[in-house]
Amino acid sequence: MSRFWSKLAHGLKPYVPGEQPSITNLVKLNTNENPYPPSPKAIAAMAGAMDADLRLYPDPNCGALRQSLADFVGLQKDQVFVGNGSDEVLAHAFQALLKQDEPLIFPEITYGFYPVFVDLFGINHRAVPLAPDLSISVSDYAGNNGGVILPNPNAPTGCLLPLQQIRELLLANPDRVVVIDEAYIDFGGESAVALVPEFDNLLVVQTFSKSRSLAGLRVGMAFGQAHLIAGLERVKNSFNPYPLSREALAGAQAAVEDVDYFNMTCQAIIERRQQLSQQLRELGFSMTDSKANFVFVEHERLAAAEIAAALRERGVIVRHLASHPTTLNRLRISIGSESECEALVAALREII
Ligand SMILES: *Cc1c(COP(=O)(O)O)cnc(C)c1O
Repeated sequence: MSRFWSKLAHGLKPYVPGEQPSITNLVKLNTNENPYPPSPKAIAAMAGAMDADLRLYPDPNCGALRQSLADFVGLQKDQVFVGNGSDEVLAHAFQALLKQDEPLIFPEITYGFYPVFVDLFGINHRAVPLAPDLSISVSDYAGNNGGVILPNPNAPTGCLLPLQQIRELLLANPDRVVVIDEAYIDFGGESAVALVPEFDNLLVVQTFSKSRSLAGLRVGMAFGQAHLIAGLERVKNSFNPYPLSREALAGAQAAVEDVDYFNMTCQAIIERRQQLSQQLRELGFSMTDSKANFVFVEHERLAAAEIAAALRERGVIVRHLASHPTTLNRLRISIGSESECEALVAALREII
């Protein structure tokens, strides 16, 4: 607290990210980072960008990266937006598209940044409970609202809505923007980007942080019809016209273009999720049908807090979200490398 803080700063409840401990040799399964390194082509492109041209500002329109993304998904460049992490892209979407008179609606259990943004930007909102099996019922997201935002797959449940239900959601809200946050879509879901040409109210947000192993670079993107992208550009150019460094532009573009590496690493994580799920079931865990790079588990006998503490003593950190009764007895565990998953299972065998 400081007497110099503004009223706004006093009133905020900031997002608390999963910890990034400085201790080495920890098995870090708490923030859904990718266990694989970024594409070697992305690393080479970033090294190549570290030259005397750094004295110049980067391209404020991020043209080359947006064109590569447009080519990858089959859209036009003016249907693509990029920003400094998808958190920034989401922030612009909240201000440009989701701040309306009626309440914005989002799931009661979801990405923890949404409630933080609505407070920061003063957005009227309403949280919609999940179904008892922790899935989202799209029929709950109709009627009077100022917009809809939800992650697909949802976080921290991993539950996926099929494209047909996203379509129903869009049809039920023709006069409101629907933002689908696809941070985890590449681990087994079908992207709503395919619906962009058909729906003028759809914005799809994605990130390089999970499926492209570039959480440290901070690059996120959005896909939507040009009039929605233009709204995001207005906010961006009123806030920070140069959100991506030369290094980030070069690395992200090379990562998008290395399609083989992307497919290979995503597939390996999907397969390991299946293996790990089976091993956890044998240890007495039940779980949602996660289509993300994490599992969301509950043990038949031991409390989640107890397991998380015992894992930590053994050098394994997982995410325990104790803030809601539904998540209180569950753990979100990222899919790590083969050896990290082995270390997790070995530690759990000892504990259980
Ligand atoms: C990780 C995550 C993000 C944020 O990603 P960044 O691009 O690293 O800012 C956004 N939404 C959801 C649901 C996430 O899990």
